[in-house]
Amino acid sequence: MNTFIHKYYTANANISFAGGEGKRLVILGGGESGVGAALLGKKVGYDVFLSDAGMLKANYKNELITAGIAFEEGGNTEDKILNASLVVKSPGIPEKNALVKQIKAKGIELISEIELAYRYKGGSKIIAITGSNGKSTTTSLIYHICKKAGLDCALVGNIGYSIAKQIAEQPVAWYVAEISSFQLDDIKYFRPDVAILLNITEDHLDRYDYKFENYIDSKFKIIENQTEQDCFICCDDDEVITSKLRLLTTHTHIHPLFFSMKHEIKKGAYIKGDQMMLRIQEERVSMSINDFALKGNHNNYNTMAACIATSVIGIRKEKIREAVQDFKGLEHRMEHVATVRGVDFINDSKATNMNSTWYALESMTKPCVLILGGTDKGNDYSLIEDLVKTRVKAIVCLGLDNKKIIAAFKGKVPTIIETKNAKNAVQSAFELSTKGDVVLLSPACASFDLFKNYEDRGTQFKDAVKEL
Ligand code: ADP
Repeated sequence: MNTFIHKYYTANANISFAGGEGKRLVILGGGESGVGAALLGKKVGYDVFLSDAGMLKANYKNELITAGIAFEEGGNTEDKILNASLVVKSPGIPEKNALVKQIKAKGIELISEIELAYRYKGGSKIIAITGSNGKSTTTSLIYHICKKAGLDCALVGNIGYSIAKQIAEQPVAWYVAEISSFQLDDIKYFRPDVAILLNITEDHLDRYDYKFENYIDSKFKIIENQTEQDCFICCDDDEVITSKLRLLTTHTHIHPLFFSMKHEIKKGAYIKGDQMMLRIQEERVSMSINDFALKGNHNNYNTMAACIATSVIGIRKEKIREAVQDFKGLEHRMEHVATVRGVDFINDSKATNMNSTWYALESMTKPCVLILGGTDKGNDYSLIEDLVKTRVKAIVCLGLDNKKIIAAFKGKVPTIIETKNAKNAVQSAFELSTKGDVVLLSPACASFDLFKNYEDRGTQFKDAVKEL
């Protein structure tokens, strides 16, 4: 690890937060982040109480019992909540929740888990990754690069491990954190040393009064508390991001490092031909995109973001180069499952919105049988119409209600069929394909109509492929 740190990267804020002694901390929601917040709260001296309207998972319950933290499940007792001095709200609970409204009306401070974590992280640093798509992939790649460079770091956040719990139980020098907009909604001082905003496309609008602007504002909170000493990395090809940046008069002290696949970038990274050029300060580094472990244009964006972030914190280019080459991609994201009699099967079950399916189709170089459908989140299928017309020979619907998909593509694709389980979908897709084709599961929809979650959908798809 190169100890040299670039000039816009220095020590963190001077704000210090008192411990929780004598104060009551109430946590709403007992999932990964809620239990993590409870453990950290207890560690820094709060009198902690966790309340969940539903039932807690056994492992979380055990953690609370072991730590001696009081909790309730299956309901919220107002008296035990409205006497809090601080409330941490889990990201799954909407602002509109009646209890949340009461808490706010009483003037009780309400924050998210990442805010609590920020307050008690000490001198450690945070690399925070947000965006509509690519968060988990980019977060994992950055962590992989940091680990390879020997950094004392942890992979945390939405990816599955609470940052607060990490701080409570095993603090490290660097937290590589996947951050959702729901976590950003309730920050106050949270200030990542390095912030990455990958892209913004319409998602989760039900939580934002169906106003895209509100969702954009939420994503931009990642830089709300950044100073000129921190680093902000974002995509210059994303018009939602660039137009918002032009309007942000309050953040003129922030000079983003951009990445682009469309044009040269003075500070940041861009792709020209098959080379990625990395320009951080006076340094000029080029890497062949053919060597990147992650393939496809969307992943080129993710890789550029990861390269900028890790070189800004001083990791040597040789280490970065090695790490982007030997990174193993994540399960359920454009995951190559098998080739059966010349037909490739790709599991992109994590594609739960139009944008990720768009990128999946865009990366197809062979004729494709597309498995599409599930719980529709208000999809506009015309967004993928051109790609479907040119690259898709058949659509296999995998959902309870496929009317919208059939209406959108009838007459535009030679074959559309309906299936109601992964096994039938895979068998039908295989029958419709010939040697040299790809069967792509990239549903553009949530999975809850037929599956437990997107992992379950992807796993059932893979099992069915193995049975062919
Ligand atoms: P997130 O954590 O933001 O949901 P993931 O890395 O899990 O993102 O990827 C989710 C889906 O989006 C996958 O189908 C993946 O192939 C696709 N994807 C990954 N990166 C991008 C990107 N930069 N732009 C669009 N889609 C992407």
